[in-house]
Amino acid sequence: MPVIKVKPGQKVKLNQIDADDTGPYKSKKEAKKQLKKNIARMAELQNVLYAEDKHALLIVLQAMDAGGKDGTIRRIMSGVNPQGVRVTSFKKPTPEELAHDFLWRIHKAVPQRGMIGIFNRSHYEDVLVVRVHNLVPPSVWKKRYDHINHFEKLLVDSGVTILKFYLHISKDEQKRRMEARLEQPHKRWKFNPDDLKERELWDDYMEAFETAFERCSTDYAPWYIIPANNKWYRNLVISEIIVDTLEGLNMQYPQPVANLDGIVIE
Ligand code: ATP
Ligand code: MG
Repeated sequence: MPVIKVKPGQKVKLNQIDADDTGPYKSKKEAKKQLKKNIARMAELQNVLYAEDKHALLIVLQAMDAGGKDGTIRRIMSGVNPQGVRVTSFKKPTPEELAHDFLWRIHKAVPQRGMIGIFNRSHYEDVLVVRVHNLVPPSVWKKRYDHINHFEKLLVDSGVTILKFYLHISKDEQKRRMEARLEQPHKRWKFNPDDLKERELWDDYMEAFETAFERCSTDYAPWYIIPANNKWYRNLVISEIIVDTLEGLNMQYPQPVANLDGIVIE
C-alpha cells in the first residue's frame, strides 16, 4: 500500500502528497471486505493484548479541522471491546495543565499494559497550534521535538507500541467538509467559526506538521501520512497498519493458572 511511513529525518512536502490517493483500490466497494476483515481481526488481537497484559498500544491521531479524527476512531474501533480501549481528546490546556510541563497531561493518559489508547490530538499540538500562534517563544517550542522523542522512547522502552497517524486532507476537501457542516442539520453542531481562522493559517500549519514529521518520526515511533480525502481508504489503511503492528508483537494467551486437565464442573 503506497502510504508514507516517514523515515527519521526525512523531509516531506505535504502539498506534493496526493490526499485523494486510494492505492490499488478503485472504489469503496472493493475495499469493504478487507476493512471488515481487519476490524474483526483487531477484535481478536485486542483480546490477546488484554489477556497477555504485556504490551500497550498507543495510537496518535492528528489532522487539520474536519480531517476525520472522530470518524476514524468511530469506524476503526467499531469491533473492539470498549473495556480495552480508552480515547483521550486533548483540548486547550486548562490553567492547571499549563502550570506543568507540556507532557504532564499526556503522560497521565498513556494506556496501561493490556490496553489500547487513542489520542485525539496529542502532545504534537504543542509544536503545531502552539508554534503557529506563538503561544510560547520559539526558544521553548524548538526544544520540544527532542523532549517528545525522549518521552516516546521512554514509553516504548516501557512496553508501549506507538503509531502516529496524520490524516492528510487537501484544503479543498476541508472546504467541502466545512460546507457540509453548514448545510446538513445533523452536522451543524460541529461547525465552529473559529476553525475558519485556523483554515486561513493552512500553510503555517503544513510547515509545522512537516517539521514535526521530520524531527519526530523515529524507528521506534513512526509517523504515517494517510491520504484521507476518501474516508474508506483512510480507514482501510489505518486498520491494516494496526493489525500488522499487533500481529508483529507475537502475543500469546497466558498459561492457565494451574493444570486444568481432568477438571469437571459439577
Ligand atoms: P471537533 O472535531 O469536535 O471539532 P477538535 O479536536 O477540533 O474536535 P475542539 O474542542 O474543537 O476539538 O478543539 C480543540 C482545540 O484545542 C484545537 O483548536 C486545538 O488546537 C486546541 N489545543 C489542543 N492542544 C492544545 C495545546 N497544547 N495548546 C493550545 N491549544 C491546544
Ligand atoms: Mg474543532
